[in-house]
Amino acid sequence: MMLIDSHSHLESPQFRRDLEEVIQRAKHSGIEYIFTVGTEKKDWEKTLEIANSHPSIYAILGVHPHNAKAIDDQTYPTLRELCRSEKVKAYGEIGLDFYRNLSPRDVQLKRFREQIGLAMELKLPIVIHDRDAHQETVEILKSEKAGEYGGIIHCFSGDYEMAKACLEMGFHISISGSVTYKNAERYWEIVRKIPLESLLVETDAPFLTPVPFRGKRNEPSFVRYTAQKVAEIKGISFEKVAEVTTENALKVYRLK
Ligand SMILES: [Zn+2]
Ligand SMILES: [Zn+2]
Repeated sequence: MMLIDSHSHLESPQFRRDLEEVIQRAKHSGIEYIFTVGTEKKDWEKTLEIANSHPSIYAILGVHPHNAKAIDDQTYPTLRELCRSEKVKAYGEIGLDFYRNLSPRDVQLKRFREQIGLAMELKLPIVIHDRDAHQETVEILKSEKAGEYGGIIHCFSGDYEMAKACLEMGFHISISGSVTYKNAERYWEIVRKIPLESLLVETDAPFLTPVPFRGKRNEPSFVRYTAQKVAEIKGISFEKVAEVTTENALKVYRLK
């Protein structure tokens, strides 16, 4: 049995004290690979350093919509340089967060389009963050033809119509620990309908901790609880979910 945590943030301060133990625990729980996402300039070197020092860890770099307002003249040249590393397997996470609005919406929209352009130039798959901006996200992905090198809608929170539109563009859908929460029926219904061949699982650690550890810090080894829930919702075995989501992640991130 093998699993992949397709999205985490190991460079977060929450892991500063015990990162090596966290990585060991993941290894012992059958997590073959972990993808860690550096979301702003101050993280990128650390993200790459973690990936460079662990054969089982790969990096994703970009500017999160929260940090869109901090993009300056140096940002894209720096990313262009760092993304040359063969440890970088995708560009992201980029997108729109109209829930927290930590950057003004017009800035988020502009930087989202620009970063899709950069990802295309780098020929990298894109990792998308969308919170309360489903319609705008789909419109921009379509108009920028963002699915050319594939990608992932991470922590998917849209409806089934959105999922279908994203799958048609060539994206995969990644399921987070929130699928394990009580009263997530709407989410379960969408997971039931999306073909297993289009699904990935992720932790988004240290956030979105699945049941039974909800309330504690999340970590990559907990991705199994999300995979177990997907298996339960779809009425298939955990092994099947582990096998197919692993294949999917390897394909999207072009590890094979
Ligand atoms: Zn995100
Ligand atoms: Zn994230």
